[in-house]
Amino acid sequence: MTSCNRLLVHGASGRMGSALLRLAPDLGLEPVAAVARRPLPDGRQALPPARMDEAPAFDVAIDFSLPEAFDAVLALCVARGVPLVSGTTGLSEAQRAAVRSAAGRIPVVWEANFSLGVAVLADLVERAAQLLDGWDCDIVEAHHVHKKDAPSGTALALGERARAGGAEPRYASLRAGDIVGEHTVQFATAGERVELVHRATNRDIFARGALHVARRVVGRPPGLYAVKDLLT
Ligand code: NAD
Repeated sequence: MTSCNRLLVHGASGRMGSALLRLAPDLGLEPVAAVARRPLPDGRQALPPARMDEAPAFDVAIDFSLPEAFDAVLALCVARGVPLVSGTTGLSEAQRAAVRSAAGRIPVVWEANFSLGVAVLADLVERAAQLLDGWDCDIVEAHHVHKKDAPSGTALALGERARAGGAEPRYASLRAGDIVGEHTVQFATAGERVELVHRATNRDIFARGALHVARRVVGRPPGLYAVKDLLT
């Protein structure tokens, strides 16, 4: 890890971007550029996406935006040779392929969920799927009404782990009120059910996780990293 911790926040006016700007100094990162289409929560002007290549030098970028905004920040990081940490969900297959290709040139961390609890849940889901052979597997997720993609990126990632354990997951999504994020993975058979549940009550957990990882990815060789690779 280097001592330089200059941060570009992409999607800076959003719910996650605001949390990143607020929490960055506590985690040893200095926001030097905030890219967004709207003014920042404190009223300051953000750098408009169309002028992102005018951003001052930075050591790592964190992106929590929208799929249609993602390609531009990935391209900027590749052009500058700087790591990218992204939590943007709903990426297309072509965008995921672009992430894998960019990881040949820069360090990239893409995670559907930056919480430690979900990392543990994913391990439990794979284990349960191995043990509960032939049971129905359903993943039910609930989020606030503003969330655009469904099923959530986290639900799909949990589904991949269930599949790795031999289950065939189905998905259901709820969009209601201000729910930060809930994921239930249910295994059911005649006469019994097992439910594994994670509830996020504060989105700061995702921002803290992304900032923690961003500090640790600076100075690493190019590659595709997961949160679990960068915990310590
Ligand atoms: P939000 O709608 O509050 O914020 C979106 C941000 O993107 C805004 O700042 C908006 O100005 C910006 N934006 C839109 N179009 C843009 C463009 N063309 N160029 C640059 N910026 C643009 O959304 P949010 O709740 O902050 O969530 C953002 C993303 O993060 C979503 O994909 C969400 O699913 C995901 N998310 C991931 C995690 C995780 O742990 N991985 C956690 C929470 C949210």
